[in-house]
Amino acid sequence: MTLQDWETRWTLDADHLHCQSCKVRQWPFNAGQPFPHASECLRSGVTEYPWGELAGILRAERVRQ
Ligand SMILES: [Zn+2]
Repeated sequence: MTLQDWETRWTLDADHLHCQSCKVRQWPFNAGQPFPHASECLRSGVTEYPWGELAGILRAERVRQ
């Protein structure tokens, strides 16, 4: 996954991120918990860890440079 892919689903906003679909927010101190999508969200019920994904992307980018 690239940062561009990640940004189709999430928006990083200062100290938190939010889902592009349901706009629910999550802070880094909750990074270990599955993202709490709203029940009407397209990805409701999908287990996702967006902070973990972001960390993985940044690590991969650093290796490539
Ligand atoms: Zn959502």
